[in-house]
Amino acid sequence: MTFADLGLGDGVLRAVADAGYTQPTPIQEQAIPVVLMGRDVLGCAQTGTGKTAGFTLPMIEILAAGRARARMPRSLIIEPTRELAAQVAENFNVYGKYHKLSMALLIGGESFTEQQRLLERGVDVLIATPGRLLDLFERGKIILTDVRVLVIDEADRMLDMGFIPDVERIVSLLPPLRQTLFFSATMAPEIRRLADAFLSNPKEISVAPPASPALTVEQHLTIVHDEDKREALRELLRAEDVRNAIIFCNRKRDVDILLKSLVKYGFDAVALHGDMPQHKRTETLDRYRTGQVRLLVASDVAARGLDIDHVSHVFNFDVPIHAEDYVHRIGRTGRAGRSGKSFTLASPDDGRFVEAIEKMLGRAITRFVIPDIEPTEFAADEDGGRRGRGRGRSPARGASSPKPAAERSRSRGRKPAQSEIEAPLQASVPAPVRVDAVEIVPSPTPPAHAPASVEVDEQRDAPRRRRPAAARPTPAPAPAERVEAANGRDDRRPRRSGRHEQDDEPAPLGLGDHVPAFLLRPVPIARAR
Ligand code: AMP
Repeated sequence: MTFADLGLGDGVLRAVADAGYTQPTPIQEQAIPVVLMGRDVLGCAQTGTGKTAGFTLPMIEILAAGRARARMPRSLIIEPTRELAAQVAENFNVYGKYHKLSMALLIGGESFTEQQRLLERGVDVLIATPGRLLDLFERGKIILTDVRVLVIDEADRMLDMGFIPDVERIVSLLPPLRQTLFFSATMAPEIRRLADAFLSNPKEISVAPPASPALTVEQHLTIVHDEDKREALRELLRAEDVRNAIIFCNRKRDVDILLKSLVKYGFDAVALHGDMPQHKRTETLDRYRTGQVRLLVASDVAARGLDIDHVSHVFNFDVPIHAEDYVHRIGRTGRAGRSGKSFTLASPDDGRFVEAIEKMLGRAITRFVIPDIEPTEFAADEDGGRRGRGRGRSPARGASSPKPAAERSRSRGRKPAQSEIEAPLQASVPAPVRVDAVEIVPSPTPPAHAPASVEVDEQRDAPRRRRPAAARPTPAPAPAERVEAANGRDDRRPRRSGRHEQDDEPAPLGLGDHVPAFLLRPVPIARAR
């Protein structure tokens, strides 16, 4: 099948050919004719499937006839994040280049004046995040009664981010006689309920997710002490052939701290997180996309949907709390069939999170050690299970530990028994491999004390020689490290609702320091095969 078979007009076909697309993707094949017929669509599709063109191409055709009136957009596309909204706007520019459609992008952090000016002139396509759209509506700057086509994109993400009440309110302001296209990567009952409320006799389309990054990305994981993570990352960045990379942290403040540290050590890096003003986010992404900087340190705002070509590496400076975020993060590399590598730096307390990720992947992530960085192991519960930060509040580094100090230092330095570390997944741990200068070995083998084949860090006072772990004193943390330590790594929390990205506000204390006994009881976890 070709694009010409789908009922698209000349202008769109030429634009698609200019973009270099020769064949429609499955979602495009199924959605485009249905949208052109004027029917509602319920699409179960992820980013990477070509779904954006699946709705923008037919919309361009539909909107080609007719003119927008001042403040009365003719179509509305709601996106959960500014980056996704900007990406859809780019798509309209690419596919609509032979049409004279007007478009406005309403996203937080951009100047109201410019957005209002565009709206005043009348727009055919309005692409918006829910918060900014409602702000402008409440100021009387926008009238939604002329919207004939509504797209709700990434509905599951909207749900995750607490945007659903806003979306419901926006939909209530639209005319009931309209065409609605609703896309979500998953169809959880809550999403279905919304779809039922918003759509009328929709055509349901479901396409397979793009090739899972779990299959296309080489994945590696090492367990290191929190205080060694930055050095571990630097060693990896030097040892690996990094064309460009995204380095994910769980919290926005850690993004800033890590950025400062990388820059101090001479790496060209920029940061991206939800607290940055929009112009800075856009500028940062542009610099990264165009190859002016090699490293992007980011929170999960960059994990989903961002379509950046040729990312060679993803580093998880923190293990994500939600297993699915791991897949989204590593999916920033290895796109469109290219190869990609990911490296995860786990802390001793990350056992349960890693276990959940491996269970979801259905296989173990290849363990590796970094020469000159002391590997460690996942902390064990009293019952021998792996401990994670999900239960109770683990003490911050330097705070008193439930284990006696002597026992702690013993367990840090000793070679752990095989059964302690890899018991649940031992069978699937891959054979040793070498990746460039970093030796990849199945955990928990201690590091081979071969001389580090990575470059010597000229900015470091001297090449670091570690004392035996048991005797190694805890170094006094540098100021930035102290922030990290004081915050501990125990403020992971479940997804919260909230209208804005707030990925590192202090977690609600809930039970405070008191942890009831039932929460400390071990939860049996099914073993991965
Ligand atoms: P999306 O799922 O909409 O985020 O699209 C993912 C990527 O696929 C984007 O980089 C698009 O430019 C690209 N793309 C969309 N449709 C096609 C197509 N028919 N052929 C090749 N690439 C496409």
